[in-house]
Amino acid sequence: MERTLVLIKPDGVDRNLIGEIIKRFENGGLKVRDMKMVAPKKEFVEIHYAMHKGKPFFDLLIKYLANRQVVAMVLEGKDAVALVRKIVGTTDPSKADKGTIRGDLGNDSREKADAEHRSIYNVIHASGTPEEAKVELKLWFGK
Ligand code: AMP
Repeated sequence: MERTLVLIKPDGVDRNLIGEIIKRFENGGLKVRDMKMVAPKKEFVEIHYAMHKGKPFFDLLIKYLANRQVVAMVLEGKDAVALVRKIVGTTDPSKADKGTIRGDLGNDSREKADAEHRSIYNVIHASGTPEEAKVELKLWFGK
């Protein structure tokens, strides 16, 4: 069994998608092992997204999450990291496959985000690799 970190980002919380999102993970074979709602401080978000430091959208990404409510959860299952990424879909919701969370519930695109000088609002963060999952679970849940 593997564990991964999922965040329901502020747009998902604002749009009342928490229940629908959890249902999709549970129906997809994942178990919710821990969960909390938090508004992370700017410094905390900068640590979480340290791998994107230096990228043109880094500051926008920090602004998207800092001091806004997110739901953080620990999901467990067989190959949980890859399975969750599959259920979530690709970064740009306008390009994500139908049947994925971003494809069905996302309402943003890279073009819109660029035009409005903000991060892409894409509902979810999910750890990219099992190694990243370990680091992110430690940061968010201390385990
Ligand atoms: P991650 O979710 O870990 O892949 O973090 C990257 C996040 O940054 C994405 O989920 C988007 O919210 C945002 N992002 C990625 N690429 C861009 C981009 N080109 N412009 C604006 N935001 C982006």
